[in-house]
This record gives sequence, structure tokens and C-alpha cells, in this order.
Amino acid sequence: MCGIVGYIGKREAASILLEGLKRLEYRGYDSAGLAIARGGSLTVSKCKGRVRDLERILPKKIKGAPGIGHTRWATHGEPSDANAHPHTDASGNIAVIHNGIIENAAALRARLTAEGVVFRSETDTEVLVHLIAAAPGPTLREAVAQALKQVTGTYGIAVVDAARPQSIVVARNGSP
Ligand code: GLU
Repeated sequence: MCGIVGYIGKREAASILLEGLKRLEYRGYDSAGLAIARGGSLTVSKCKGRVRDLERILPKKIKGAPGIGHTRWATHGEPSDANAHPHTDASGNIAVIHNGIIENAAALRARLTAEGVVFRSETDTEVLVHLIAAAPGPTLREAVAQALKQVTGTYGIAVVDAARPQSIVVARNGSP
């Protein structure tokens, strides 16, 4: 159970998210990542390793807000760039970060795969973003609530949608 940080407001999110992730480093983690919305699309950077490794791979002039940042302690899938959070939906517009464990992830993954979803990680977390993308909404908050009704397990999550950048949606169940 590692770190989640989000920023919404008038400032550029990147340096605020990095500072937040650095403050959470004491919790231990194996990878780090962030997603930042700007102009209707998301920039996602993530890697296995330390927050300073993430800083090295970040695009130099990354701008925008809102944004979310994550440090991962792997439970489902090895520590790797692909398994690092955030995870995005097929459009690349919606990003999710998650601490905890989705207990029915295998069944949800099988169902979503049968429906044509292509998974890009081995994590339990990735099912969440595809469920949110498929939920009718209409608001991001509603879509997240509808997705979470299908999930059992523990979670702290934060979600951004570049198409609906007015909010970061957060939820928790059993995770600190
Ligand atoms: N279960 C998720 C994963 O393995 C989240 C782990 C965590 O709490 O950092 O990616």
C-alpha cells in the first residue's frame, strides 16, 4: 500500500506531484508514475524504480492540470514499466492509480477480454480503468461509482479524465 497524490488547480501539476511522491517515498515502493491532463489529452509517464528515475523520463516541459501521481508496491504482476501506474483506458484519456487489491480482478479481466478489451499490464488495477471507460456515467464521478459496484477488494483510487478535467475522482474502501 504505497502512495497516491493528486493536484487540481491553476498551477502546473508536474512539480507538485513529484514533490508529493517524494514525501511518500518513506513508505517503500517499486515503481512510480503520473498522468497530467492538458488540452483534452493525457500525458502519462511511469517506470520501474525511484521517483528520481521518473523525473529523468518526464517530458521536459510537461504542463497542465489536473494530475495524479503514484508509487506502487506490486501485488499483481512484477515491478515493471508496464505494470507501473497510472493505467489508462483504450482511448488514453482516462487514467487510474490504485493502492490495494481488487479480489475479483481475474474474473473481471476474463469478462472484459471476451468483450474485446486489450490489457497492457498484468495488474489487478487495470480492470478498473476499463470498467470506468465502459460505464455510462454521465459524469466521471458516476462512472467511477458504477465501476466500483462491480469490484470487491480494498482500494484507494484516484481517477482523471482528460475529456472531463474539472475534477479528480477519489474513492476508498478498506485502504488507508
Ligand atoms: N494491486 C496493485 C498492483 O499490483 C496496487 C499495488 C499497490 O498498492 O501499490 O499494481
